[in-house]
Amino acid sequence: MLLEMRDINVNYGKISAIRNISINVPEGQIVTIIGGNGAGKTTSLRAMSGMLPLKSGEIHFEGKRIDGMAPHKIVAHGIAHVPEGRRIFPDMTVEENLRTGAFLRKDKAKVENDLKDVFERFPRLHERRRQRAQTMSGGEQQMLAIGRALMSDPRILLMDEPSMGLAPVIVEEIAVIVEEINARGLSVVLVEQNAVLALELANYAYVLESGNMALEGPASELHDNEHVRAAYLGL
Ligand code: ATP
Repeated sequence: MLLEMRDINVNYGKISAIRNISINVPEGQIVTIIGGNGAGKTTSLRAMSGMLPLKSGEIHFEGKRIDGMAPHKIVAHGIAHVPEGRRIFPDMTVEENLRTGAFLRKDKAKVENDLKDVFERFPRLHERRRQRAQTMSGGEQQMLAIGRALMSDPRILLMDEPSMGLAPVIVEEIAVIVEEINARGLSVVLVEQNAVLALELANYAYVLESGNMALEGPASELHDNEHVRAAYLGL
């Protein structure tokens, strides 16, 4: 297992946000976490990348225990987070934003190579590399956030609602990008409100409900599950 979350509990103050959540991500797979508003999807992802302290439980990455590590150490281990709402640096140029993803890296020659790769994968980012990031469209900003995460040379990408607020044709583009990134060997944890899209992309899925694990299984099985279709897919 590449990433293993075991029996995680996270509180905000006295309020419990997620309870006894266990999530496994096998090497090379896309795993999705779906569920309604406030189900605990973002909390689970932020716990994985060390941005929230655990009340209890353990997180292992490539066999090493990473819970309690500082977020920048977790990035250095190969876990990159693409946050909800993109969180790009609006006043910095596109290229400067991308370079922030490589801040911790010492392998400067490979950083330049990875920047070239990102520009090849996202030609629009290349065209706009000297433009301030805030002038970009929502879809372009999402691509920038993904590109910035790739610049840390990760083994796994944690993506929080990449489709949020984007037009259907752009959502399709993002979906293709997720598939391509995965085909190149990167594992992905995908948090999505767009459950249909998520179940189409993922190998395996976890369904959260009010901070609890409601259901899990192969994505194709959940896609055909009557309860899931009625409760989460609006079908
Ligand atoms: P959404 O899709 O709406 O972002 P989510 O599934 O990602 O939902 P979380 O954001 O993880 O859900 O929230 C889980 C629970 O924790 C919710 O009840 C939410 O109100 C609560 N919560 C989230 N962030 C905080 C915070 N900073 N302080 C207090 N409670 C919070």
